[in-house]
Amino acid sequence: MRTGQTHLFIPGPTNVPEDVRRAMNVPMQDMRATDFGDLTLSLFTDLRTVFGTETAQVFLFPGSGTGAWEAAITNTLNPGDKVLMARHGQFSALWIQMAERLGLNVEVVDAPWGEGLPVAEFVRILGDDRYDEIKAVFVTHNETATGVTSDIAAARRALDTCFHEALLFVDGVSSIASMPFLMDEWEVDLAVTGSQKGLMCPPGLGILAVSQKAMAASETSTMRRAYFEFADMVQMNADGQFPYTPPTQLLHGLKAALARLNAEGLPNVFARHHRLAEGIRRGIAAWGLSLAAQRKDEYSDTVSAICLPDTVDARDVLRIAYDEHNASFGSGLGPLTGRVFRIGHLGDLNEGMCLTALGIAEMALYRAGVPIQLGSGTGAAQAHFAAGADVRPVLRIAAE
Ligand code: PLP
Repeated sequence: MRTGQTHLFIPGPTNVPEDVRRAMNVPMQDMRATDFGDLTLSLFTDLRTVFGTETAQVFLFPGSGTGAWEAAITNTLNPGDKVLMARHGQFSALWIQMAERLGLNVEVVDAPWGEGLPVAEFVRILGDDRYDEIKAVFVTHNETATGVTSDIAAARRALDTCFHEALLFVDGVSSIASMPFLMDEWEVDLAVTGSQKGLMCPPGLGILAVSQKAMAASETSTMRRAYFEFADMVQMNADGQFPYTPPTQLLHGLKAALARLNAEGLPNVFARHHRLAEGIRRGIAAWGLSLAAQRKDEYSDTVSAICLPDTVDARDVLRIAYDEHNASFGSGLGPLTGRVFRIGHLGDLNEGMCLTALGIAEMALYRAGVPIQLGSGTGAAQAHFAAGADVRPVLRIAAE
């Protein structure tokens, strides 16, 4: 029998705020009614703001981030196209796997897990590609497996320095709506996310923003696709409708979540994520543990992957936290299994929740045999949060 609150500190799905949950508790409605657009049309506009674009076409597919990856590829590329991708964590590795399974010719650059995009190597490869054989460059903005954020502006500069015309694909699944994302400024062509992380909704939506350049590519792309066809969506979305039954409840939730983001103000949302992440990082440093992320300027503001001594299996920490303290942390993925555990610090989150995460992690680490001082991590985070208390943004929710 578990009592009290269950704590979710995984990097997605994240905690769904109460007003978002309530917004989804509505009767089923007719998705072919002429007023269905009252629910849906503003979603496209508001998502554009979150993606940092005025001109991109936004798509909401039933699915998840993985589905949006597939939609991005199959709508804009051709079988056998050469693409450039880096493998430096589980999610970039899985995207490569998908691209290969879909029949693309992937040039893979392997980089250490814990580092960001190998920009210099990309510049070298793009510079050598004199005939623009590379049709797309893929970048994972925030590698959720390692807690590393890559510099998308640098990826754009890599393309521009080489006068290269390749499409720029960006996975923003664990960054968009939590960190600045400037689609237009960075000239991103396909930006991908899901509903269950920074957007604070349940899983179930794969969300894409597509530049006009990528939309033009979709008109001639010959990869096989059916359910994820952009053209069908564009036609039906014009009136706020969908080519197939949309997940209406989720759309209500998304509307409420976007209202929250709007009420808090995106700059405040990003500042909050940075402040909370910094508190978590101070806590980890006070334990004497290190992050998987190697470079300070690549530390993720949404997830921290924490390395454990060789003598401790990170899965024990997860088990103790879950079984004994009702708390979930993220596991190590791929080669990091058993070597790291992750704290997700994104979405509907505040200082108290971060202190709970650190406090429970401390108990689990201690019990698993990691030589830490109880209270050290929470104390360091408290010191950080207390110092920054005056900059806490005020959240005004119109509905409350
Ligand atoms: N990309 C990144 C960076 C992720 O963190 C995830 C999931 O955690 C995915 C892609 C896959 O998304 P989904 O699980 O929504 O299919």
